[in-house]
Amino acid sequence: MKRIFFLLLITATFLSNAQTVTEPKNNPAEWSQSYEPFKIVGNLYYVGTYDLASYLIVTNKGNILINTGLKDSLPIIKNNIKKLGFNYDDIKILSLTQAHFDHMGAMAEIKKETGAKLYVDEKDAAELESGGKSDYELGKYGITFQPVKPDFLLKNNDKIKLGSTVLTLLHHPGHTKGSCSFMLETKEGNKNYKVLIANLPSIIIDKKFSEVKTYQNIQKDYAYTFSAIKKLNFDLWVASHASQFDLHKKRKAGASYDPKLFMDKENYFKKLKDLEKDYLEKVKEDSVKK
Ligand SMILES: [Zn+2]
Repeated sequence: MKRIFFLLLITATFLSNAQTVTEPKNNPAEWSQSYEPFKIVGNLYYVGTYDLASYLIVTNKGNILINTGLKDSLPIIKNNIKKLGFNYDDIKILSLTQAHFDHMGAMAEIKKETGAKLYVDEKDAAELESGGKSDYELGKYGITFQPVKPDFLLKNNDKIKLGSTVLTLLHHPGHTKGSCSFMLETKEGNKNYKVLIANLPSIIIDKKFSEVKTYQNIQKDYAYTFSAIKKLNFDLWVASHASQFDLHKKRKAGASYDPKLFMDKENYFKKLKDLEKDYLEKVKEDSVKK
């Protein structure tokens, strides 16, 4: 009797852990293409793929990694960290700008391998634990990344501290319920730089906002995010995708260190203006659609 019960228990545990992760296929080739890592400014480095941005923040108490690309980005990120002369095992803190599979693919694996703590916008916690299945839109693809349990849940303006680095989380919902940007200050010589890692509020649905049953506040959240993200003040900016901040137009492969490349604030405000136009057009279309 006991033995059978034990076997059943093992089987049940095995089944509950054996959720199949199905990462969507046919993604843009640039997402999986490697790219040379480089220093953006101060202690902030780009270690992502050609288009999926991952950011490494290096401190004397260990490092912070933001975003992890797709599942197949892991060897690229690892190699990039090594190329820069840093240790993968020194990652102490993990975070993300949005709980979508193209930024979450390698998160669970990196957390397991490094033992780093995961800090997230509290509104994305459910999506992270469901492997994206609870997402209002991408949930239709099922579990798209390995589910992961956050260690710390953050709210707007909460800080992540490591060594002398302070990262401020800015809640910018809409794209996902817990999409967020980060602000940090970094130093180079005797100069201080304020850097924004922006999660731009792009829209991914065709149906009306009011038809999104599992995210009732989606329209309100976008409206809030546009008003908040436009007011930010910073010296340099980057984003969740390289294409969103025109990385490859600004910086040619092999280019030497130059923080000025990312000081194009006008471009940031122009991108936001275009995105807000899309948003306002959608709101208008929604109101006349049956
Ligand atoms: Zn996304």
